Amino acid sequence: MKITKSQLISKPVNRKPHVVILGAGASIAAFPEGDANGKILPDMNNLIEVVGLKAVLDRAGVEYQGQNFETVYSELYQAKPESPVIKEIERIVYDYFDRLRLPEFPTLYDYLLLALRPKDIVATFNWDPFLFEAWNRNKNKVPVPEIVHLHGNVRTAHCLKHPTVGEHGMICPQCNQDLKPTRLLYPVTMKNYGNDIFIKTEWEVLKNGLRRAMTLTIFGWGAPATDKEAVDIMNSAWDKDNRLIERTEIIDIKDKEVLWAQWKPFTIRTYLDCPENFFQSRIATFPRRTCEMLISTTLYGQFVENNPLPRYVDFDELVSWLDPLIEAEKTQKNDEKQG
Ligand SMILES: [Zn+2]
Repeated sequence: MKITKSQLISKPVNRKPHVVILGAGASIAAFPEGDANGKILPDMNNLIEVVGLKAVLDRAGVEYQGQNFETVYSELYQAKPESPVIKEIERIVYDYFDRLRLPEFPTLYDYLLLALRPKDIVATFNWDPFLFEAWNRNKNKVPVPEIVHLHGNVRTAHCLKHPTVGEHGMICPQCNQDLKPTRLLYPVTMKNYGNDIFIKTEWEVLKNGLRRAMTLTIFGWGAPATDKEAVDIMNSAWDKDNRLIERTEIIDIKDKEVLWAQWKPFTIRTYLDCPENFFQSRIATFPRRTCEMLISTTLYGQFVENNPLPRYVDFDELVSWLDPLIEAEKTQKNDEKQG
């Protein structure tokens, strides 16, 4: 039996989350020409050059040629955590990401958010403002997923005493204090997701989402060796031994064999889908209906007709294209209320 595009659109059923995890590779893929002003997105290997840390490191006599930024920072921190060089590095990195601006046209992050529903979660490891800003500019036009920041981020702020997370300029309802910027840089040895109150709060949302999730997409996150704890937490929340039809998808340009070996703890039976780019992914092929599609194919063996997101369109065209999907979601909600 076949599920047509119009059947897929008109029958939203599943309420389990689709969880998406974004790493540095996702922002680099989403902004290949850089931000609105052409400022490019660095990774840990070119961050020193891109962000402009050479001068301060040279002045301090720090050896950094060919080194990963996290290693350089960790060594400096271990030698002298309170040194002025550390503070200056932290400020330069924060300023660089803080000044990045979202281009006006629909970016890949807009597509990603518009292709998911409020039941879903997009969690990012990235310091840049793009996920937050894309979410912010779409949230009043279309029901969008929840977003979560798994590391510090230039657009999030938090209370130092309470699990309150918000934007800059907000105050904590429990103590009436201004929310403070989140910390971006941690030495590798101090990366402990249980210690920092902001990170702990955000990770709880992710863990709850993962436990209930129907499907998981990992986009441009290489699970670096320096972040083993992150993989362990996700692994235990995903708990693959107790799953049957859930599926994991990895959007990455690496070889399929490499991805297979790396993501074994997240594959259910023998399924791991590895599209090279976002527009080949399930999210872009079955927008707002990824879980429905999975249930039809894996549980009932049905073929589901593709309903790919339209590319190279402006926001108005994109939102009107989404309209039938969103209308069907509203009707389903009303039916539930009456039933
Ligand atoms: Zn507070």
